[in-house]
Amino acid sequence: MPIRLRLTLWYLLILTIVLIAVAAGVYGFVATEEQQSVDRILRERAQSFASAYAGEIKEEPEAKAFQEVGRNYGEDDVLIYARAGQIVWRSPPRLLRVADFRSIPDVRSAIDRAFGGREQHASFGDIRVIAAPIPGARFVFVSTESLAGRRGALLRLRNAFTIVIPLALVIAAIGGYFLAARSLAPVAQMTAAASRIEAENLSERIAVHNPSDELGRLGAVLNALLERLERSFQQQKQLLADTSHELRTPVTIIRSETDVTLSRERTPEEYRLALEVIRNEATHLTSLIEAVLLLARADARQLRIARESFNLGDVIHQSVQSLRTIAEARGIDLSCTSDGPMTMQGDPELVRRLLLNLLHNGIKFTESGGRVRLDAHRAGPQYVIKVSDSGAGIPREAQEHIFDRFFRMDSARGRDRDTTSGAGLGLAIARWIAHAHGGDLRLLQSTPGGSIFEATLPASVSELAV
Ligand code: ADP
Repeated sequence: MPIRLRLTLWYLLILTIVLIAVAAGVYGFVATEEQQSVDRILRERAQSFASAYAGEIKEEPEAKAFQEVGRNYGEDDVLIYARAGQIVWRSPPRLLRVADFRSIPDVRSAIDRAFGGREQHASFGDIRVIAAPIPGARFVFVSTESLAGRRGALLRLRNAFTIVIPLALVIAAIGGYFLAARSLAPVAQMTAAASRIEAENLSERIAVHNPSDELGRLGAVLNALLERLERSFQQQKQLLADTSHELRTPVTIIRSETDVTLSRERTPEEYRLALEVIRNEATHLTSLIEAVLLLARADARQLRIARESFNLGDVIHQSVQSLRTIAEARGIDLSCTSDGPMTMQGDPELVRRLLLNLLHNGIKFTESGGRVRLDAHRAGPQYVIKVSDSGAGIPREAQEHIFDRFFRMDSARGRDRDTTSGAGLGLAIARWIAHAHGGDLRLLQSTPGGSIFEATLPASVSELAV
């Protein structure tokens, strides 16, 4: 069943219950009001009869006194009962609705109770009866009043309700259905828009008419979801395109090297040189593939990050140690300082990779005779690791791009291809590792005299970011 129909039916059900309850309440209230006003008339009649009787009885015997008083009640239906049940006086028979009220059980018991001293009321059919003791005497005054005239008003009220309520329900049903249909129209639009969106047009968005209502918020959430999908889709596409592009160069070099070498007979020395070129390119290919795989798995959130406790000082020491030979070969002074034991929680392999990437860049982009330093210390809940070099620095316009994937400066591109030349993924990976540990990596400063990168890593990670 469509939601708008269900909503309308619920709305109608509730409205029906409310209308019926209100109608019953009004009807009951009017009915009691009318009965009470009839009872008031009867009570006043009983009281005036009793006081007139009290005046008469001072001068006349009982029967005479009733007769005298009764004269004034010629238009009303009045009977006076004595305790034994006999009628002491009654108004003219033509007025009497009932010859003897004691024949009606309800009225009879009201009369009997009235002898106990308290005014009683009873009904039969449309007739309301009062049975009131006459003070100081052993008689009960009984009189009647018809509710028929007033019942007519009640009947008209009931008729009005039986017309007005169904009419109100029909109008409410039509109005409710249109309102529900109107307020749900954006859902239909959103459904249509969402079903049009596919991988090819992920940049399309769902139209949001009122961003502050519930449907507007749903639209905004769906749009944000599309945004994330599009971004990750673009990221994957970009990674694929860049990777294919990057793979092409080493593969081309290997092919041309083999083609040229095989074009004629070579000396063993020439074969050795050719194989060295091929090995370098293969090493480059391996590290490129590893880096791309790592990023692709990180994007897909498939990378499991260890949360073990380890000594950051040891990892720093090992990283510096493993690059010492390369640094020496390039004539660069590589040093590090760190304070004592530095326990941290996280993935030591990834942290090692982060440090290696930073140090490696420092060595790569510093001329012979320069220096690369790593300083690590604890600052509050985190470790701050600074890697500084005395290289040529990064031009201002390139600084905002160095963390982008596959970004390399032209100078780096033009370099001799050897095992140290990267694909422009080193800093992207390093920053991702810092983020994954809940920390950050940024370029603190870079001048023609050198650059300083600063990585912050929380000492204990309650919940790793990835
Ligand atoms: P790569 O793997 O090519 O080194 P990175 O992502 O590590 O890629 O670095 C991107 C670019 O940022 C490099 O090509 C280089 O131009 C620049 N860069 C990074 N570190 C330094 C540094 N310490 N000094 C000068 N330039 C740097």
